[in-house]
Amino acid sequence: MKLIFERGQEGRRLDLLPPCDVPEVALEEKDRRQKPLDLPQVTESELSRHYTQLMQHTFGVNDGFYPLGSCTMKYNPKINEYAASLPGFAQVHPLQPRETVEGCLEVLALAEKYLCAVTGMDRMTFQPAAGAHGEFTGLLLIKQYHTLRGDEKRNEILVPDSAHGTNPASAAMAGFQVVNIPSSPDGCVDLEALRQAVGDDTAGLMLTNPNTVGLFDKNILEITRIVHQAGGLNYYDGANLNAVVGIVRPGDMGFDVVHLNLHKTFSTPHGGGGPGSGPVGCKDFLAPYLPGPVVDPETLDLVQPAHSIGKVRSFYGNFLVVVKALAYLLTLGEEGIPQVARYAVLHANYMKSRLEDLYPMPYPDRCMHEFVMSLEKLKKETGVSALDVAKGLLDNGIHPPTMYFPLIVHEALMVEPTETECKEVMDQAIEVFRRLHQLAYDDPQALHSAPAATPVGRLDEVQAARKPVLQYGG
Ligand SMILES: *Cc1c(COP(=O)(O)O)cnc(C)c1O
Repeated sequence: MKLIFERGQEGRRLDLLPPCDVPEVALEEKDRRQKPLDLPQVTESELSRHYTQLMQHTFGVNDGFYPLGSCTMKYNPKINEYAASLPGFAQVHPLQPRETVEGCLEVLALAEKYLCAVTGMDRMTFQPAAGAHGEFTGLLLIKQYHTLRGDEKRNEILVPDSAHGTNPASAAMAGFQVVNIPSSPDGCVDLEALRQAVGDDTAGLMLTNPNTVGLFDKNILEITRIVHQAGGLNYYDGANLNAVVGIVRPGDMGFDVVHLNLHKTFSTPHGGGGPGSGPVGCKDFLAPYLPGPVVDPETLDLVQPAHSIGKVRSFYGNFLVVVKALAYLLTLGEEGIPQVARYAVLHANYMKSRLEDLYPMPYPDRCMHEFVMSLEKLKKETGVSALDVAKGLLDNGIHPPTMYFPLIVHEALMVEPTETECKEVMDQAIEVFRRLHQLAYDDPQALHSAPAATPVGRLDEVQAARKPVLQYGG
């Protein structure tokens, strides 16, 4: 496919500038452009076709089933986009006088109130722009807590091996030593190993729950008790809140800090590279350390927390993402929010139970919002890998699940159907998974060379990651 700059002819154009409604001012010579702008010279129809074609070369939730585990690629109601597009939200400036943006401040205060109600936290910041950014922020709160108590020895963060990969990375970024806690064979945190690891250098624990094998840790109360008893704090990675939202609350399970991914659970399309939002909630005793400013819930004044860790992003974070989250919360309400979790869990268990006779599940217990299968046996018997099956799915109009993650499962495929799919879509996907399993035995070569029906065939992914070509003509 051609680039937009390779299309068209000199002199073709499309002028859509509105008439000038301000006095014209001639620029001085030194301020004038020396060379003409290098713009594509195309007609409106060429322009429209170009971007339509680009759109057809991508795959999103509007195209088909997208069970990308740990990412929650679900359908997000368009009414939330409508709310975020209202001029009173979309066209404000963060430096406007307070009295002209009271509605926006109210959005922040209300969203904070509802998300605290959902997580069992007392206060929240919307500054972090993504989940990993939230983790980093939450860890700085924990660090500030220990530092201001003069307990500077606490420099270790415990991270179970079933945690999301960003957890150990964020702990290291925040200046902590990362201590890996192994899992038991049942996929939960090994309590004995945890007891061995805690001590007076424990700053805290980061728990991804449900963890990356899709399980709710059945010992969660014991885990948070062990860490608190050792003087550490508990951090809840709530990026995948879909599984538990409206059912249980991290704050009731002994957690002091939590981050959410509004671009997973709370209705911002995810996967296009942003903008996202990773708000961090905390208990009252950590609130003085939050990034400032925060909105006073009574007066709507912007206030600076007393011992703030400082800003982690400009102004108030990605505000329009918060507008969408609030619209989502208000439209679903107290009855609708727990339904999200119930359907997310039901759908994952439905697909799992209809595939487990063919695809071995290393953790056979009931799962939460996603499940992990291992294709190790299939690969041994047919040579067909998890990657080959993922490419085969593409030929059937299905986006592949997350592959080769978590690392503790070999030839892993991690499937998250989400709550917004209907039974027919899942049944169709189940049929495709079952057909590809048969194909692996009948014609493994067909899967080695898949996909055949997509705009581009099998890509050299190593080459693309190691030697990306990022510059046109470069
Ligand atoms: C997606 C995810 C993250 C990271 O979120 P980003 O917005 O991609 O930084 C962290 N933890 C878990 C469990 C996740 O699923």
